[in-house]
Amino acid sequence: MESLKKRILEEGVVVSDQVLKLDGLLNHQVDPQLTMDMGKEFARMFREDGVTRVVTVESSGIAIAFATAFELGVPLVFARRKKTLLADPDALCERVPSFTKGIVTDILLSRQYISENDRILFIDDIIANGDAARGLVRIIQRSGAELVGVGIVVEKSFQAGAKAIREQGIRLESLVKITSLDGGSIAFED
Ligand code: 5GP
Repeated sequence: MESLKKRILEEGVVVSDQVLKLDGLLNHQVDPQLTMDMGKEFARMFREDGVTRVVTVESSGIAIAFATAFELGVPLVFARRKKTLLADPDALCERVPSFTKGIVTDILLSRQYISENDRILFIDDIIANGDAARGLVRIIQRSGAELVGVGIVVEKSFQAGAKAIREQGIRLESLVKITSLDGGSIAFED
């Protein structure tokens, strides 16, 4: 997605050879037009797959997942990151390490909003080692729903996550692939 690559080059800040700060478009500020365009792109990729719900993890995935769900005309469900007093005791829960926070968090999804009749499209902002995605994939599998695919805005293809998910036989599509952040510069595939 060329418009996204352009924005990443304009606004991305290379923090290290592993981490790219994308606060200007994904993790702090949201550009509604760009976000709707990303949603259209994911919807185009998965339109024939009979998606019944789009699932993401709070918080940075929500805007893109919303745009995708809007385009597909289905509900968006976002997994929550920790137990709240209002959490459903029967919720599906997985413990995952957080790449950027360096801590472990619990992600929860209520069985009320996912069932074995669902065909799920999982959308997220960035994939690095794939821990967040693996946690969500486990939750979807435990629910009995079918995972039709995973849509990721930024795949850092020099890290292991996306490859590992694909090796599980899961369809993973990304809008841009970053092959390296070495030397402070952002290299895209193609
Ligand atoms: P993973 O679980 O795949 O290792 O990391 C995924 C999550 O960590 C993403 O949802 C994203 O929020 C955060 N993350 C991983 N790598 C980066 C990065 O380079 N930049 C930013 N801003 N977030 C990242």
